[in-house]
Amino acid sequence: MRRGLQKLREEKNHGIISIIDSIVVIKSFVREQFEGQKQADTQAKLVNAQLVTRKTNFRYDGLKTFVEQIGVVVLTAYLVLDRQISIGAIMFHILLFNNVSAPIRQRHRIYDEMNEALTYSEGFFAILDADAAIEATGPLEPGDVRGTFDICNVDFTYPNGSQALHDVCLTIEEGKTTALVGLSGAGKSTIINLLCKFYAPDSGQMLLDGKPLADYDTHALRQRIGLVLQKNHIFKGTIEENIRYGDFTSTQEEIEAAARQAYLHDQILDLPRQYQSDAQQLSGGQQQRIAIARLFLKNPPIIFLDEPTASLDAIATEQIKNSLDAIKQGRTVVIISHSLAQIVDSDCIYVMKKGRMVESGTHDELYDMKGTYREIFDASARSLNIEKLARTMADDGNEVLDTAS
Ligand code: ADP
Repeated sequence: MRRGLQKLREEKNHGIISIIDSIVVIKSFVREQFEGQKQADTQAKLVNAQLVTRKTNFRYDGLKTFVEQIGVVVLTAYLVLDRQISIGAIMFHILLFNNVSAPIRQRHRIYDEMNEALTYSEGFFAILDADAAIEATGPLEPGDVRGTFDICNVDFTYPNGSQALHDVCLTIEEGKTTALVGLSGAGKSTIINLLCKFYAPDSGQMLLDGKPLADYDTHALRQRIGLVLQKNHIFKGTIEENIRYGDFTSTQEEIEAAARQAYLHDQILDLPRQYQSDAQQLSGGQQQRIAIARLFLKNPPIIFLDEPTASLDAIATEQIKNSLDAIKQGRTVVIISHSLAQIVDSDCIYVMKKGRMVESGTHDELYDMKGTYREIFDASARSLNIEKLARTMADDGNEVLDTAS
């Protein structure tokens, strides 16, 4: 029962946190009543469970006291009435009996409290047991890794049992840009998760510069990897602190230089408190630039970009693309993007479908293959309404020519 109560308490707390987290969606769909009722139902279940626990507790307590007292009452009454024992001796017996029963009652109370504490501590022990899952690391210092990844016949299943990769093979060459393309859920981000050693593959081989990835010192390896995601975490604090996260030893000038490279510096200067402004108040696009500024500061030889410009407007996308193009020089880059502009000029493109690698090559080779890549490319072009855009640009070009002539 206590375990059930504990579960309900957790459910109630999660419910409240989830309501706070999704308050904008709840309001926009006018679901206040619905969510309120859901939370009230959980609360009612908790109250009922508490009542049942209390009732059971009182019942057992009553029964226990009754059994305990009835023995004393019936036995003493019988003995006195039968004149086998005097009242004085009975009083003496009751006093002694209390001396014996008090520690027994005390022991029962302690047992009760211990049981309650144990149900609470189950969650705590679950956290301690998680130690067993501490990240694996190896003895190999990455030193000056060059960044050639060889992935061969890799299968991977997430801890919840969903298999995300099936027999995947790919080669990421040092100093080159490799793109991963595919529909959502194809397994692109999973590959990056494996390359960062966030997870280990079920089977297959993963080599970095010819040595097993598992043998590398995980922390030292991650020092050499820069990761920019679609949505990057911004810590509570100032813009300066958030950019400094890329390298704690950097000076103010270096932070400003990184912000300039990420096209963020001018926008920061427009803020009333400039670099001391609250970073969490920035727009999605500006937060993305903070993540890119962090990358410039960290200056790693290997860069993984997972939809880095997905939350940016067109102008910002162009600016960020330019600065990413600059940072790509001489580094090993893996990019995942739905934006064709980001991938067409990659040195090698791998196409994934439902956790399998289905095609690979350069843009031109894949386009001519008329397979999955071509399908995705054509759909992207249609969604961009590229014909109309091209016509507009052609008209504009003619106008410019007319004016010139
Ligand atoms: P993509 O990046 O191509 O959109 P992902 O690599 O994110 O695809 O996901 C591949 C598959 O793995 C999907 O079916 C997804 O549901 C599953 N998946 C992704 N992340 C997790 C996770 N943390 N736990 C369980 N399954 C996951």
